[in-house]
Amino acid sequence: RSSMASEKEAALAAVPSDSPTIFDKIINKEIPSNVVYEDDKVLAFRDIAPQAPTHILIIPKVKDGLTGLSKAEERHCEILGQLLYTAKLVAKQEGLEDGFRVVINDGPKGCQSVYHIHVHLIGGRQMNWPPG
Ligand code: 5GP
Repeated sequence: RSSMASEKEAALAAVPSDSPTIFDKIINKEIPSNVVYEDDKVLAFRDIAPQAPTHILIIPKVKDGLTGLSKAEERHCEILGQLLYTAKLVAKQEGLEDGFRVVINDGPKGCQSVYHIHVHLIGGRQMNWPPG
């Protein structure tokens, strides 16, 4: 998937569910990924279709029903904080001292294509606003 259009098509084709996703295989190292940070709770790896020089996905190792932000419950507050804090750590590790963006796509209209919550960390170029 190399264009914005196909990313949107993938999101619109994705069926929201709590089933295992490709990210479980990445967590279990069943499929390779370029890991940039890992601890007992969180994994961060490079997006396979980067939208900027730095494009990293930060995910919880245990999904616990958190398919997307719209499914968050109070018990998820700690992991949600850890995902954002990891974005800050990895931004520093990537040398993004002039700025970066974090994004959580949610649901079909938010262009979510993988139903395992993930924070996009994007940087290394000037971002624009509003987003597409
Ligand atoms: P979403 O559109 O759900 O917010 O983001 C899903 C992201 O996962 C996309 O940016 C897509 O490029 C990325 N992605 C999908 N499959 C894989 C994969 O197998 N490996 C990696 N590294 N990234 C993936």
